[in-house]
Amino acid sequence: MTAHRRSADEAATTFVRRHIGPSPRDIQAMLETVGAKSLGALMAETLPSSIRQKAPLDLGTPLSETEALSHMREMASQNHVFTSLIGQGYSGTVLPTVIQRNILENPAWYTAYTPYQPEISQGRLEALFNFQTMICDLTGLDVANASLLDEATAAAEAMALAERAAQGKTKAFFVDHEVHPQTLAVLRTRAEPLGWQLIVGDPASDLDKAEVFGGLLQYPGTSGAVRDLRPAIAGLRARGALAVVSADLLALTLLASPGELGADIAIGSAQRFGVPMGYGGPHAAYMAVRDALKRSLPGRIVGLSIDSRGQPAYRLALQTREQHIRREKATSNICTAQVLLAVIASMYAVYHGPEGLTHIARTVHRRACVLAAGLRQLGFAPQSAAFFDTLTVDAGARAGEIAARALAERINLRLGEGTLGIALDEATSPKDVEAVWRAFGGKLAYAEVEAGAREALPAELKRATAFLTHPVFHAHRSETELLRYMRKLSDRDLALDRAMIPLGSCTMKLNATTEMIPLTWPEFGELHPFAPRDQAEGYHALFQRLERWLCEITGYDAVSLQPNSGAQGEYAGLLAIRGYHAARGEPHRKVCLIPSSAHGTNPASAHMAGMEVVVVACDSRGDVDVADLRAKAEKHSQDLAAIMITYPSTHGVFEEHISEICEIVHGHGGQVYLDGANLNAQVGLSRPGDYGADVSHLNLHKTFCIPHGGGGPGMGPIGVRAHLAPFLPGHPDSAAPTAVGPVSAAAFGSASILTISYIYILLMGGEGLTRATEMAILNANYIASRLDPHFPVLYRNAKGRVAHECIVDPRPLKTSSGVTVDDIAKRLIDYGFHAPTMSFPVPGTLMIEPTESESKAEIDRFCDAMIAIRQEIAEIESGRWKVEASPLRHAPHTVHDIADDLWQRAYSRAEGCFPAGTSRSDKYWSPVGRVDNVYGDRNLVCSCPPVADYAQAAE
Ligand SMILES: *Cc1c(COP(=O)(O)O)cnc(C)c1O
Repeated sequence: MTAHRRSADEAATTFVRRHIGPSPRDIQAMLETVGAKSLGALMAETLPSSIRQKAPLDLGTPLSETEALSHMREMASQNHVFTSLIGQGYSGTVLPTVIQRNILENPAWYTAYTPYQPEISQGRLEALFNFQTMICDLTGLDVANASLLDEATAAAEAMALAERAAQGKTKAFFVDHEVHPQTLAVLRTRAEPLGWQLIVGDPASDLDKAEVFGGLLQYPGTSGAVRDLRPAIAGLRARGALAVVSADLLALTLLASPGELGADIAIGSAQRFGVPMGYGGPHAAYMAVRDALKRSLPGRIVGLSIDSRGQPAYRLALQTREQHIRREKATSNICTAQVLLAVIASMYAVYHGPEGLTHIARTVHRRACVLAAGLRQLGFAPQSAAFFDTLTVDAGARAGEIAARALAERINLRLGEGTLGIALDEATSPKDVEAVWRAFGGKLAYAEVEAGAREALPAELKRATAFLTHPVFHAHRSETELLRYMRKLSDRDLALDRAMIPLGSCTMKLNATTEMIPLTWPEFGELHPFAPRDQAEGYHALFQRLERWLCEITGYDAVSLQPNSGAQGEYAGLLAIRGYHAARGEPHRKVCLIPSSAHGTNPASAHMAGMEVVVVACDSRGDVDVADLRAKAEKHSQDLAAIMITYPSTHGVFEEHISEICEIVHGHGGQVYLDGANLNAQVGLSRPGDYGADVSHLNLHKTFCIPHGGGGPGMGPIGVRAHLAPFLPGHPDSAAPTAVGPVSAAAFGSASILTISYIYILLMGGEGLTRATEMAILNANYIASRLDPHFPVLYRNAKGRVAHECIVDPRPLKTSSGVTVDDIAKRLIDYGFHAPTMSFPVPGTLMIEPTESESKAEIDRFCDAMIAIRQEIAEIESGRWKVEASPLRHAPHTVHDIADDLWQRAYSRAEGCFPAGTSRSDKYWSPVGRVDNVYGDRNLVCSCPPVADYAQAAE
């Protein structure tokens, strides 16, 4: 073999070549189609030259996949897995391996998109429906959502819900002194800009005097104490305030539910239902409310509706995309949530069933009781006689020494001021309990102490109601049954492992297997977020390098890895801007300019940060109307806080005026928040920090390969220029005093999935990342060229180029044929595709983003399908069918159609089910026909109905 051949072979096997879809030969053909001489020439026509990055990205030499995994082994070896009995909202848990491999490690689940297209999402919608049922059953409340970001932000959302519901003049909220410290810290962050006062105290003594719109109580408390919350709840409700209870799901299997105690809202974490701690996340938080509050519930709710044949079908209900519709009036900015983790927690309940969960809870409680008995023998009586799994003891001056002895046993305890907290969990063994006793200076044998241990749950708080009675929580007890259930559900769904998901604004690119591997190693999965830093050196080395790389990529000076989603990043970034203005003596700067084309989370976040939204118009090209911007910046000059602008724009174009826009806003003393969701069009080509932006969030679950998980997890770190660095979110866990409080429960958000983005950058290197951006832009322009003759491309720059996505406009076809954007989206399912983004940012249009990872063959298949659909529309225009009778309106077609003996449609069953060119053997069958949205909202069902209803329906 010649040297030349070898290097060519090497190049062909590098990861970059695998991450990028089109081959070098395809690239030539595509360049010809778009009419560009070279990739370089295409970039020059796409991005304004004024913003082009001068120097190539300096990210070191890329590693091969094998090298990257050994590098990760090395990083993992610097993390030390101790037994963490710290508690404080995070518990050790045992993820059943069948769920680990077949959900957490299975691309059929983790590469799915948010279920906005219900027909191709029935599997994950059912799993989420199970999650909601589980939450409703355990909390004793009526309606639950399909997850929130973490327990602390769920508490903040509950506080906001209570404020809206109370509608009174009082602007104070009561917080139990027994809530977790990180929850209190996040509540403080959320309350401050809105001018709400927090009253922290003992509900038994301090609630009487407090005039509040609501109160948060923790059950069991952070110290482990189990208190009867009924008087406090009744006290809150008596003055028209809402009672929120933050409850531990495992404890609720043995304890009376918050609903029974009278609470209006329950929140908490589902982490201990099988989800590894991951040094902070990701995990699913939950929220459940009384029926009367269901229309104010933030986040997404899965509801049961019917399809076109009247069969039951799941869908997202009610205010699913409400921040897009209600914008700054939205109840919350939550968009990406924690779907994959909610699915895991629900499967954990399916796996164990109510008896299994109760057994786990009893075992944990028993161990805690034995631990308490031993500690009493050693002279350390727990502070509270009633507890579930967590004890706090006063150890006075000896606390530090005991904690140190525990560390020598590789056990982390929670060290307070002279107190020690010990939280047991599913994974705690009798040996662990004996080790804790040794740390307290006693040599006791578990079996001997056990004989004298007594139960510690108050009789009046014992659970008397059944839960998880639905058959789904009983029918899958054998591994074979569970395996098949999970397989059945994933087979109903269309994820990236089957077909291109051409969603604009969401960057559904390859989530490479190698990137996903270390995530489930114990050294990354089993670390408690508040474990001592020296046990997490591997993590911190990773954070530091990732922060440096993201600075290099964006041109910013500092990065915070804390926000758990893009929207939380927006919120954190706006708080930084707010902190900056306040520190300069200009706290009145509260006006936030937002172009009318903005993503709905932008105005919702601005509102949460206490800002006033002023909308800036867009011109007919889709660009920000610079004259309008100038006028509004002028008008609000004294009070201007910021502009929030997405770049390249949500219209998929690099606006020429971006530097000018930044200058105008700066000229009036405002800051530039550049929404970085579209960074996939910029990496390696231009850097927001260079051309005038002050702060951006980066959706790591878009540009940096964290899979969407069916609607989360995500990570939305923010980058800032140096002057905003002092205002990045702090955390009570870190010693340094900060100007801005935390926005997440854990200091590094969903730390464990940062490994994915880290490995991606490691594998690609600067050149590879730049190549990926160029290819994302080529792929989008190729689609624009192919589709434009059939569906006109709505916006381009002056040179006729789109960025990494494009909007096609079928609205004229509605006039000529009656075909709606919905019809096209649903018909694409018959061709085996997920629909593009519908009606955002322009109603009635489709936004398509191929990403660099889609091959020319797959992009052509998609374009061919779109063109074939255009032909079908032409058949309506030419009068072959009426729109009501067309295959478009009846899409998607299902096996019920192909097997319909009474078929009387104007087109054949084959035309309906196997439209032009689709494979008969590799057909994706939508499990349900078109889902009826209106029916679903009129007849809202959000948790499994009682079994009797099923029996009736079957009759
Ligand atoms: C996705 C997106 C967001 C919100 O990000 P989440 O991670 O879903 O919270 C904000 N802005 C734009 C332009 C987006 O595309």
